[in-house]
This record gives sequence, structure tokens and C-alpha cells, in this order.
Amino acid sequence: MTPTEQPLVQLRGIRKRFGSHEVLRGVDLDVDTGQVLCLVGASGSGKSTLLRCINHLERPDAGRVLVGGELVGYVERDGRLHELPESRIRAQRAGIGMVFQHFNLFPHLTVLENVVTAPMRVLGYSRSAAEATAHDLLARVGLAPKVDAYPRSLSGGQQQRVAIARGLAMRPRLMLFDEPTSALDPELVGEVLDVMRGLAADGMTMIVVTHEMGFAREVASQVAFMSEGLIVEQGPPQDLLVAPRHERTRAFLSKVL
Ligand code: ADP
Ligand code: MG
Repeated sequence: MTPTEQPLVQLRGIRKRFGSHEVLRGVDLDVDTGQVLCLVGASGSGKSTLLRCINHLERPDAGRVLVGGELVGYVERDGRLHELPESRIRAQRAGIGMVFQHFNLFPHLTVLENVVTAPMRVLGYSRSAAEATAHDLLARVGLAPKVDAYPRSLSGGQQQRVAIARGLAMRPRLMLFDEPTSALDPELVGEVLDVMRGLAADGMTMIVVTHEMGFAREVASQVAFMSEGLIVEQGPPQDLLVAPRHERTRAFLSKVL
């Protein structure tokens, strides 16, 4: 018998407020290793804040984030949570790739340099090892011919594929995507979704905030619908997208499908 594996990501009771606005109101979520969770919901429902809590870019006011069974951002001592030193938080973050709507590439660095910088600085890779990995990853996202180009000479879709390669270069065990195709011209969306589909097929654990319902239907293991700081409903795409049980999910889907 194999022991029951715990979910790679476990969120318990995550709360976050900005001033008087409680943006996250007690979110629980599990994501198993190798699964793709698509997080959907109206603008302002708290999706980005939740994603940012997972790698402690936002500090939750309450609740716990565990990745691989390890508490993120905190250590528990005497029954209380104490925030880890920044160096430890950075080390935890290194294992969690994040891709944003706006690609955030370094404009003064070539594609190759964008991909090798963090592995050399943070993981201590030699230049030759980092470059070998970068060449592999850039080939995988279809950008082998662009290694020496600068970001400004690339299309948005190409830049986002570099950003994905840069995330993968850190050998993350989890990838977070925050509306990775929302800033792209429609004809460039497909090439980025194709890369993400390939990652999912290779078994990468992913949490993807997206409005691309076709992608969610086809690739997601689970879809979670968020509304006003809570996950209202969660299930496999064939259930949640086809026969949502909650009125708010139905209302949202009628606008985006
Ligand atoms: P979504 O990604 O679903 O659109 P967000 O998590 O970005 O939602 O935002 C949820 C709510 O929190 C919004 O009302 C937003 O204005 C607010 N918010 C997000 N970040 C901050 C911040 N740093 N300071 C104040 N309010 C914020
Ligand atoms: Mg957002």
C-alpha cells in the first residue's frame, strides 16, 4: 500500500483585509501534485490576492499556507506563527514560479540572460549549467531562435513564453499564473495556452487564474469559482462549468461562456 499523499498546496482559513475591505474571508483550498486548478471569478473577487498569499507576496492576516507540507512565510513556535526572515521567505518563493499578466521581463537583458539570472544568483548554478537549462527551456516554449533578442523586439506572446521559461528555470514544484493571457492580442493567446497545456501534460502542478474557459474546460483538473473573497464552488470542469450548483457561479458563467 502506498501512503496517502497530502496535497501539494493546502490553504486553510486564509483571510486578508486592505483597510476596511476584507478581500479574502477564509479561503480553504487543496491542490494535489500534478493537478491544474483554474481559479475563476469576477474582477475584484480576490483571485490575485489569494495567489500572492501562496508565495507570501501578500501576508495573510489569518490562516495557513502549506506547500509540500511546509508552512510558507511563517514558522510555528509555542503555538503561534512567527514570520520567517526575508532570506528564508525568498528561498521558499524560489520553489514557486509565478507568471503575471504583464510579463515583467528585464528589458535591458537578452532572452537568455532573463532566463539564466535567477538560477545563477539564487540557486548558485554555474553559467554553463544555467545556459544549458535555459536553451532547453527556450526550445520547449518555441523560442530557440530568440535567445539573443531583447524583450522589446518580441511580441507579447513571445515575451510571456520567455517569462514561463524563466519561471521553469528555477525548477519550481508549483507554478502560479495570474491571467497570463489577459494582456495579449487575441491572436497571441493560443501560443501561450499551448505552452501551459504542455506543462500540464508533463505533470506540473499549476494554479491558473484565467478567463479562458476553453482552457479551463480542457486542461483543469479542478475549477474553483471565487466571489467576494470566498471560494463559492469547486469541482471538475465538466461539473462546475456545465452544471454549476450556485446561482452566483451560474451568473458569472453566463457572462463569460
Ligand atoms: P481579482 O484578482 O479577483 O481581480 P484582487 O485580489 O486583485 O482581485 O483584488 C481584490 C480586492 O482587493 C479589490 O477590491 C482590490 O481593489 C483590492 N486590493 C488588492 N490589492 C490591494 C492593495 N494592495 N491595497 C488595497 N486594496 C487592494
Ligand atoms: Mg487579478
